[in-house]
Amino acid sequence: MKSDIEIAREVSLCKIKEVASGLGIPREEVQNYGRYIAKIPNHLINEQKIKEHNLILVTAITPNKAGVGKTTVSIGLALGLNKIGKKAIVALREPSLGPCFGMKGGAAGGGYSQVLPMENINLHFTGDFHAITSAHNMITALLDNYIYQTRNSCEGLKEIKWKRVLDVNDRSLRNIVSGLGGSANGIPTETGFDITPASEIMAILCLATDLEDLKRRIGNILLGYTYDDKPFTVRDLGVAGAITVLLKDALLPNLVQTTENTAAFVHGGPFANIAHGCNSILATKMALTYGDYVITEAGFGADLGAEKFFNIKCRKAGLNPKLTVIVATAQSLKLHGGVPEDKIKEQNIEGLKNGLANLDKHIRNIQGFGQQVIVTFNRFASDTDEEIELVSQHCKQMGVGFAMNTVFAEGGEGGIELAKLVADTIENYPSEPLKYTYEETDSVRTKVKKVAENIYGASSVVYTTLADKKIKQIESLGISHYPICIAKTQYSFSSDPKAYGVAKDFELKVRDIIINNGAEMIVVIMGEIMRMPGLPKEPQAKNIDIVNGMVEGLS
Ligand code: ADP
Ligand code: MG
Repeated sequence: MKSDIEIAREVSLCKIKEVASGLGIPREEVQNYGRYIAKIPNHLINEQKIKEHNLILVTAITPNKAGVGKTTVSIGLALGLNKIGKKAIVALREPSLGPCFGMKGGAAGGGYSQVLPMENINLHFTGDFHAITSAHNMITALLDNYIYQTRNSCEGLKEIKWKRVLDVNDRSLRNIVSGLGGSANGIPTETGFDITPASEIMAILCLATDLEDLKRRIGNILLGYTYDDKPFTVRDLGVAGAITVLLKDALLPNLVQTTENTAAFVHGGPFANIAHGCNSILATKMALTYGDYVITEAGFGADLGAEKFFNIKCRKAGLNPKLTVIVATAQSLKLHGGVPEDKIKEQNIEGLKNGLANLDKHIRNIQGFGQQVIVTFNRFASDTDEEIELVSQHCKQMGVGFAMNTVFAEGGEGGIELAKLVADTIENYPSEPLKYTYEETDSVRTKVKKVAENIYGASSVVYTTLADKKIKQIESLGISHYPICIAKTQYSFSSDPKAYGVAKDFELKVRDIIINNGAEMIVVIMGEIMRMPGLPKEPQAKNIDIVNGMVEGLS
């Protein structure tokens, strides 16, 4: 089969104004970024339409390293729904350069289910990530300057909570000392970098409801504490307006097209392991304004992405998905059934059977939210009919809808069976209103306990002294009602990335807690998870090239 980029290049793209007109967006509202990409202004969002239309979440079982194909299946499901005569739009996150040049590769789908132009979407796109990185680091520079200018007065700060970000996997920036070189060059400070998808500005951009809300949230970002223990925010620094200016265009959803020329919104990109893992609320609402069916993806396995999608994003935005689709692959099921990673491409019925326990736990978890669930098997070329039949029979026994899809190999055609099941399920058995895992009024510890026990299956949670101290700060700030955003490995229900299948009787350790006062959530860090990833021995960058002006090796 052709590579993703070869397939992408063969598609004859429509002008983005045509794609927008097809949705009913007035041409004069389309803000072109070249011929094939546009930003769409947020005043077009229509709350009434959002209530009438159908939101579908695509999530997955616990992934293997290559990913299980949520993005590919999200796009393919939209294509399939369009093929059976529905008006469907996919809303996705923007890819990050870190994984694109690191281990995982791009995030614009794959095969015949991609969003295009994938070279742009996977690289600099409309510059949203750069705007977020600049806004974040501008705050750091202004804060450092404030500390420098007030170094001999009592207005200074005693505790700094704000670091820098970069959209590159760079392990040597995790912990650094800035301000070296003598007193003219700042004050030496131990600090570090996170990756841009973990930036609080990224979370804020994805959760903001409009420009005013964006400014309010930026003003509320907690930067540190004064000598008399008062919180010090961006508003105190006097730059909430200036930082919002840097983000005014980044706040507008990006419109692109699929391999079958249908519309797709791609906007915002927090990771689901170290952040909340869903595209912007504004993009989801824009898609729901114009599409009868909107398919959106939450990152990594359902324990991470879907939990945060429901408890954080849907709760804040008042969204009620009609259906959740869980993507499973034979390879990931086998990995979770005890098959060694280098053997998961070979048929192994016993291994696959053992791995179904992982799928079952995700199904039960999602049903616990009051969601109607269906399972789709994302077919790879090496999968056998026997393996598919096994998963299909298992879902039947579980009383859960099942459809195999071949959207990677066939695009919309390969998503028709899934699309029919989705449309039929929504019509006849739509989900109940969402049931959240915890109440906003629960204490931080209770929220963590409820997610740890009810979603991950942990037996207990312990806290470091540092985490204990942060909880006291949260209580004194009066923000215990914020939802929690757990940062944890994506490879296991536990915090041990090698504990495959359904981990049992494990303890979770809260290592640190980060207060995102602007994003209005509490980031709870478990185990060894890093907020700045590193690069693997053989990074994807080694496959990327430009030949005769054409980008190669992006996938
Ligand atoms: P996720 O969103 O779950 O991380 P992606 O959709 O990004 O997964 O897919 C991960 C990788 O696997 C991508 O490179 C994609 O092209 C590839 N992929 C997905 N589905 C298939 C399939 N059925 N056959 C072959 N490759 C696939
Ligand atoms: Mg994805």
